[in-house]
Formats: sequence, structure tokens, C-alpha cells
Amino acid sequence: MPLSAALNDADLEFKCLECDHAFKRKGSWFKVISTFKCEGCGAANRIGYADKLALFEKHSAPFG
Ligand SMILES: [Zn+2]
Repeated sequence: MPLSAALNDADLEFKCLECDHAFKRKGSWFKVISTFKCEGCGAANRIGYADKLALFEKHSAPFG
């Protein structure tokens, strides 16, 4: 199951696993990174492929 290209330019929200600080990045950004440093607490978060799939799934779910 590929990561949808439809979300490349969409803002996706991810929360830091350590402090729950929420931030937004483009779908295309999430596709290429594997870790990120939290803006809130400075913790290094790992984002694996399964995490990306879940994130894309959540944001591509139809509303209503
Ligand atoms: Zn944090």
C-alpha cells in the first residue's frame, strides 16, 4: 500500500511521542524523513513506514 500522492501538498498533523506537541508538515515531507526533532521538547522521534501509513490513512479518511 503506497503513501498517497494526493497528500503531498496537504498539511498533516503529527504529535511528539514524548510531549504531545503537535506540528504540521506537508505529506511530501513525511515521505522522505525517518526521524524528526520535536520543536517543543527537542526529543528525537522515529517515524517508521507503519507510522507514515497510519498518518496518511488518518488524513485521507473521508469525512461525513
Ligand atoms: Zn516533544
